Amino acid sequence: MRAAALIIAALFLTTGAAQAGVPAPVARECPTPINAETGKPEITRATKECWERVMRSAKLGGKWVWNFSPPAEYDKPYEGLLMFQRQKPEDIKKLCAGQFACAMVISTYNDGKQWAISQTGNRVGCIILLPPDNIIKAARQEPKDVIRHETAHCNGWPPNHPNGHSKWEWVSGQSDGFDPREYYGPPPPRDPFEGIPSTSYPARPGSGPGSGG
Ligand SMILES: [Zn+2]
Repeated sequence: MRAAALIIAALFLTTGAAQAGVPAPVARECPTPINAETGKPEITRATKECWERVMRSAKLGGKWVWNFSPPAEYDKPYEGLLMFQRQKPEDIKKLCAGQFACAMVISTYNDGKQWAISQTGNRVGCIILLPPDNIIKAARQEPKDVIRHETAHCNGWPPNHPNGHSKWEWVSGQSDGFDPREYYGPPPPRDPFEGIPSTSYPARPGSGPGSGG
């Protein structure tokens, strides 16, 4: 009995040693630093090298998802009056300085007699403008991540994204055929909606010519 127990212990030790010999898994996320002036994430040489490294090591299927999360200070539920407005990306871009989503923060002044879109006031209300989920997913983002990002702006996260965390993550699973190395090269980054047919999002009822508001 004692001998058998020793053999089992030896087997466990051998297995442990074999696992220790396996190279450490490559981190499957590639940071994209945020330009302090423009507030936009940048694809650096390190990002590109990371993409290469991950895709070489990623034997199983998977896909890239981009995530741009706020610092902990602003990463919390918004306590004012929160409104969501889904629109076509081309319409949102007219209001959101060319971005496909944004948060318009409303502050009141003079004892509630005046209001303005201002992130530095009392922030009593916030309108998050964003496209339909399928458009967000086509831009390799998760709708919940976009809402988290915009909610942080409702909470006062400045537009130039100080202390934000931007990264591409490799998520194991079914591939969607997207390769960021082609998508983002050569710089500057292409419009994430370029080439997406307008039929891929639902038409708004009553938005045709001549229809009332
Ligand atoms: Zn932002």
